[in-house]
Amino acid sequence: TKKAVLGPLVGAVDQGTSSTRFLVFNSKTAELLSHHQVEIKQEFPREGWVEQDPKEILQSVYECIEKTCEKLGQLNIDISNIKAIGVSNQRETTVVWDKLTGEPLYNAVVWLDLRTQSTVENLSKRIPGNNNFVKSKTGLPLSTYFSAVKLRWLLDNVRKVQKAVEEDRALFGTIDSWLIWSLTGGANGGVHCTDVTNASRTMLFNIHSLEWDKELCEFFEIPMKVLPNVRSSSEIYGLMCLGDQSAALVGQMCFQDGQAKNTYGTGCFLLCNTGRKCVFSEHGLLTTVAYKLGRDKPVYYALEGSVAIAGAVIRWLRDNLGIIQTSEEIEKLAKEVGTSYGCYFVPAFSGLYAPYWEPSARGIICGLTQFTNKCHIAFAALEAVCFQTREILDAMNRDCGIPLSHLQVDGGMTNNKILMQLQADILYIPVVKPSMPETTALGAAMAAGAAEGVGVWSLEPEDLSAVTMERFEPQINAEESEIRYSTWKKAVMKSMGWVT
Ligand code: ADP
Repeated sequence: TKKAVLGPLVGAVDQGTSSTRFLVFNSKTAELLSHHQVEIKQEFPREGWVEQDPKEILQSVYECIEKTCEKLGQLNIDISNIKAIGVSNQRETTVVWDKLTGEPLYNAVVWLDLRTQSTVENLSKRIPGNNNFVKSKTGLPLSTYFSAVKLRWLLDNVRKVQKAVEEDRALFGTIDSWLIWSLTGGANGGVHCTDVTNASRTMLFNIHSLEWDKELCEFFEIPMKVLPNVRSSSEIYGLMCLGDQSAALVGQMCFQDGQAKNTYGTGCFLLCNTGRKCVFSEHGLLTTVAYKLGRDKPVYYALEGSVAIAGAVIRWLRDNLGIIQTSEEIEKLAKEVGTSYGCYFVPAFSGLYAPYWEPSARGIICGLTQFTNKCHIAFAALEAVCFQTREILDAMNRDCGIPLSHLQVDGGMTNNKILMQLQADILYIPVVKPSMPETTALGAAMAAGAAEGVGVWSLEPEDLSAVTMERFEPQINAEESEIRYSTWKKAVMKSMGWVT
């Protein structure tokens, strides 16, 4: 049979906390041609611990690539048209492996994991100089969230890791490094690298000099020989990569100062491009590397509001309470009642991230009456995602000075129309969603396709002019929205101080 004629194609591996995907785009039209997705297991070996199997993650990438290629074959599309593959990945999640055998030395410690709470407390007591030591270099608060403390924990507690470091066999990486090393040959010459966006989430990377920071490595007692080489987000490594939230920023074409997007996945991440300036937040946001699209291209920074638990609360209702069988069913439950009936759900499972950075917080469901049923709780869970975003947006508006006029959104949860409408109601600005929601993968594909030596994608805004948008306008009045929001804040206060 005749093969369909197309322009150059670009693939993207999108390795998220919940699932792995491989997607193939037409570089001329940004059209998604085919994809495959596999859910990833999460293990909770102890309270507060979250792990994943690095080999399962790698296997899921192979499976997704294979299945997508099969589907392309069925569409009569020649896979030799794929000119580059980009990688976007869950950030901060920490892997250490043996460079001689290719075997992981421990499970991946997932970004949400809380085992390092006492490590963080101990470290915070001996921060050298002023308290700004870590933040001024990295843009990040000292928190369990970032890789440095996870790596510290592995070095302190896992004999295999200690031994491999002594024998000079250990490599550290976030998921991008683990995948790229494995996909470029592994123990037979794999490339050990990361990009500036992922590096900027380790708490070991100086976001001004764009290098590993010697003083930070000394403070966290991390041997620098285990760290990957840091590259730009768009060059040939073998492959290219971007941390998932940066990829979404690129995929949403937020290239201008002041443009922002919010991604609703396992967690929720609102990033606002601040251009070439490194802006430090006064309101609990992070300063992070947005992208550097080429070795000789300038670096762009972003302010970021990170919410730990968004889609994860839906997965919790599915896996731990069993009140739904699939994530999509949450919409049906919420629709049945159309209100939480005064019930508020603060899903502070991993403490609270932005803007509070409060590790002592734990989840609460409050405002219950005899009348409350699972539908109200489902509704409250969706509302919680919207309220958390509102807190981030408020902080962002205060830091930037110019309020956002609308919110660009993407991620797995944005398929939920009730959630999108609630979000518009609670923010009281329109919420705008591209009809092709895989913007994270698209961003990784764009970075890969635009790389020097590939050159099949130009990063001009008109490239996406064909993308249609869905808009959700606020429907309740501002006063009602404020009342709900202030009750939410009361609930947040009650969630704090559970763990001392
Ligand atoms: P990640 O990139 O973190 O892996 P995704 O963007 O793939 O996450 O989104 C998956 C998350 O979204 C899961 O936590 C899932 O529970 C949630 N989710 C998926 N579909 C829906 C839906 N229709 N309504 C609410 N939540 C959903």
